Amino acid sequence: MNRRSALKIFGYLPFMASAIELFAQAGRRLPAHHTEDGFRNIDPNFEERSFTEMAPWVISHLTDLFSRAPKVDIPREYNDGSIYSLSKPYTVTWIGHSTVLIQMEGKNILTDPVWAENAGPLKFAGAKRVSEPGIELQKLPPIDIVLISHNHYDHLDQSSIEKLADRNPKTKFFVPLRVRDWFEDKGIRNVEEFDWWEGTTFLGLKIICTPAQHFSGRWVNDRNQTLWCSWTVLGKKKLFFAGDSGYGSHFKNIGNKFGPFDLALVPIGAYEPRKLMKPVHMNPADAVQANEDLEGKKMLSIHWGTFLMTDEPMDEPPKKLAEAVTQKNLSPENYWAFKLGEVREW
Ligand code: ZN
Ligand code: ZN
Repeated sequence: MNRRSALKIFGYLPFMASAIELFAQAGRRLPAHHTEDGFRNIDPNFEERSFTEMAPWVISHLTDLFSRAPKVDIPREYNDGSIYSLSKPYTVTWIGHSTVLIQMEGKNILTDPVWAENAGPLKFAGAKRVSEPGIELQKLPPIDIVLISHNHYDHLDQSSIEKLADRNPKTKFFVPLRVRDWFEDKGIRNVEEFDWWEGTTFLGLKIICTPAQHFSGRWVNDRNQTLWCSWTVLGKKKLFFAGDSGYGSHFKNIGNKFGPFDLALVPIGAYEPRKLMKPVHMNPADAVQANEDLEGKKMLSIHWGTFLMTDEPMDEPPKKLAEAVTQKNLSPENYWAFKLGEVREW
């Protein structure tokens, strides 16, 4: 090779390098909800509220995080766990907030288990529990499956998770992407982690991680570093757990793919001020629409009556739910808002 052609090749090297880089990038193209620095919502109508929009409301509520919350009288039903020995194939119990026990085809499933008095990063600071859990954790039947929707403190509570793992080493925790590390830090290894639309078969049930429209973070430096999700559980009957979510097109997508659902657990609380909360929390009217999109035959209302987090009165969501159901001429008996500890068959 003469000097001239050698120089020519050197001259092309930068172009070749960038072509290879482009090729490599195409090979590892990220799914739309992944970004280089975390996860994001992908509904075209999703509008994230900026720090400046949120700041005045957050600042005006800072003292709430440290003050004692008033106890609110949310209706409750006595539940000492004895009902679970009757082995009914399909039951559902509202324990409080998004914590629900589902019995399904011989398996006991628990969603977002939180028994904490205070949902926050410090013992004394966080969203305050205003009503007691519907059943003591120690009175639950042995739990086979725990579904976690995201890492916010009102959904992922260290003490509850550790108690459940200690109580039954066979309990399997299903978590969205990048949440497994949190469990492994605590020495809990019976964990399966999934991206949206991924899943597995466990104990005869198909468990699929499905989308939600929300965000994540447990401190100031980890916003959206871990994924948020809903869960679809398919057996002879079909169960859907919406997690924490604003209203979005994902409900219709999930309904089309896996619906109709025999039971859908859908959040109805934490919606005021509406302007700020709408992208990430549904109000009862949104929840009813979501359930219609999902083709839920029965909807159980969750994410209300438990933690003081937003501006609507704690007992308002079920009233607004009843209004939304009437307005749409739907059957009220298919839209459930339970007493704490209440159990029904589904
Ligand atoms: Zn959340
Ligand atoms: Zn929440």
